[in-house]
Amino acid sequence: MVESKKIMSVGHLIDGNIQNRSGPKLDVFNPASGYVSKQIQLATKETVDEAITSAEAAFPEWRNTSPIKRARIMFRFKELLEKNADKICQLVGEEHGKISHDAMGELQRGIENVEYACSAPEILKGEHSKNVGPAIDCWSELQPLGVVAGITPFNFPAMIPLWMYPLAIVCGNCFVLKPSERDPSSTLYIAKLLHEAGLPKGVLNVVNGNKETVVSILNDKRVQAVSFVGSTPVAEYIYTTATANGKRCQALGGAKNHAVVMPDADIDNAVSQLMGAAFGSSGERCMALSVAVVVGDEVGDKLIHKIQEAMKNLKVGKYSESSNDFGPLITKEHQNKVTSYIDSAESQGATIVEDGRNIIVKGCEGGFFVGGTLIDNVTSDMLSYKEEIFGPVLQVVRVKTMQEAMVLIDNHEYGNGTCIFTRDGEAARYFSDNIKVGMVGINIPVPVPVAYHSFGGWKRSLFGDLFAYGPDGVKFYTRRKTITQRWPSNGVREGKQFSMTSYGSTDLKN
Ligand code: NAD
Repeated sequence: MVESKKIMSVGHLIDGNIQNRSGPKLDVFNPASGYVSKQIQLATKETVDEAITSAEAAFPEWRNTSPIKRARIMFRFKELLEKNADKICQLVGEEHGKISHDAMGELQRGIENVEYACSAPEILKGEHSKNVGPAIDCWSELQPLGVVAGITPFNFPAMIPLWMYPLAIVCGNCFVLKPSERDPSSTLYIAKLLHEAGLPKGVLNVVNGNKETVVSILNDKRVQAVSFVGSTPVAEYIYTTATANGKRCQALGGAKNHAVVMPDADIDNAVSQLMGAAFGSSGERCMALSVAVVVGDEVGDKLIHKIQEAMKNLKVGKYSESSNDFGPLITKEHQNKVTSYIDSAESQGATIVEDGRNIIVKGCEGGFFVGGTLIDNVTSDMLSYKEEIFGPVLQVVRVKTMQEAMVLIDNHEYGNGTCIFTRDGEAARYFSDNIKVGMVGINIPVPVPVAYHSFGGWKRSLFGDLFAYGPDGVKFYTRRKTITQRWPSNGVREGKQFSMTSYGSTDLKN
């Protein structure tokens, strides 16, 4: 079904302009109504080639543009993002389905990455040592890589691209972005705003598309590095292929984030934090808390009871009603996948305490909704525990000790985020020090690092060595060059040297 007779076609942004290309297209849905709202043009190899050629042509001038000038464009970009925030959130809501206040939070987090990118002159200063030898100075500088690419998921169409290209660009690179094919419009609109802010053409190109488009990017020798965020099987494929093709790669994958609730925790606080962290954005967050690990049956029973009570007030519906807590899932297929995980938990012996499988949202009967679901007595051998559900489903695993909780978490294949609710500082310190997870919260349910730290998981939640954005992002998007220089003067000259020296001396005592 289509939403209106006039279906808009979403093109690409190449060489500073929106470009429409004939060829294959894919439907984009309004997930709250279930109708097709737009069609996205899928970039062919030729279109990807155009984008990379444009980026390559822009690079020589851009790499020599002073960092302060690059940063000034980011300052203007930040202002435009704030000015157009409502429009951006509307585009996110229409295609992703998340509620406007949630979209605003996402955008705010994205803008913080633009703010960090504004510090380009500071972060690119490099290191300098004078007189490392007689009349010899040494310095290290951070040079851009050239053309770099980003491939992003559907769940944060505004924020995740902003993790990547503002920083890559202020570091002097030119960028080719391939956003999610599910909700491309806000990403494209934001990229246009950056051009309005004064970005020269070719420095940022956006190609819309799916798997074939990604393959063309991965196979192009001119692309020096790839940042990826998405599911683990695709992250692993991207990392393996990109590195086999000689590219630098960071590929962030899926997650299963556990919250440990200790017997001494402030239960009311834990309940209200868990509600938002499990059900916010319909659980379609890589940092969503999808498993509560309760230490002891007493705290388990109390927690379940209080969450069940709180769930009676959950409001599910359209993005535009700000009193709603969360919206639909992204596609019909994903809705079916989420309900099938609930089915499997039930058939494997878990207790469905609150069931969101048959929810009907008035006025949105064709939408891809699953209501808030709470499942007790989940065990580590169940499919719904092992795999990422990515829906509004909170599972409860009961354990006897904190140690048992930590073994459970460490044994899970994912290691993106985790948190502990406790009043015991010693336990919290032991937990954060030893748990095998990349981002840890102590009484913080969704510990997404601020833009001037970096974001990433451990185990199969990240392929590559460097986290996304922040200081690790700078390392990822630059290449270090170290220069040692002598300008002989005042008779300071060295004769022939056949031995390995520390400049000017082979004598360990001098
Ligand atoms: P996805 O892996 O299906 O898609 C991500 C991107 O990869 C999209 O641009 C898509 O077009 C492309 N893609 C999909 N299949 C491909 C293939 N076979 N070959 C090449 N490219 C392909 O992920 P999604 O459904 O858009 O997003 C949800 C997933 O992303 C979840 O698993 C979630 O945990 C993860 N995620 C992780 C983080 C993180 O920081 N670790 C953040 C957000 C989302």
